[in-house]
Amino acid sequence: MSNNPYYNRNEVTHLNVSNAEWKKILPADVYKIARERGTEWAFSGKYWRTETHGDYYCAVCGNHLFKSDAKFMSSCGWPSFFESIRKDSVRYIPDHTHGMTRVEVVCGRCDSHLGHIFDDGPAPTHQRFCMNSLVLDFEPETTTA
Ligand SMILES: [Zn+2]
Repeated sequence: MSNNPYYNRNEVTHLNVSNAEWKKILPADVYKIARERGTEWAFSGKYWRTETHGDYYCAVCGNHLFKSDAKFMSSCGWPSFFESIRKDSVRYIPDHTHGMTRVEVVCGRCDSHLGHIFDDGPAPTHQRFCMNSLVLDFEPETTTA
């Protein structure tokens, strides 16, 4: 991400960056999901089985999205969370594509597509944020021994 001038884990200001600009910056597989609403193959992503403690950031802009405390093992094959770290970490958009009624989840800072949210998750929220590993950056917790 060193060639991405917009990536910042401490910044929450909304970004207005065109897809033409993102295309120059992002790896092709990340661009396809984040900016063209793609979906990685189930069980293919690097984080769907991750149980390590740490933080998940938007791979496009560095926005803090989830903590591992809110991650749960789902059989769907994508990393799943029951809540975002802040209410405004993400935004929700009704999605009627592919003949389904779903709710799309986008990054609250850069508007990149992250995945979808379903209401079949575990307590306490009963929500399931079904995310693509490719648009997440994971930072393992550093333990002070
Ligand atoms: Zn973002």
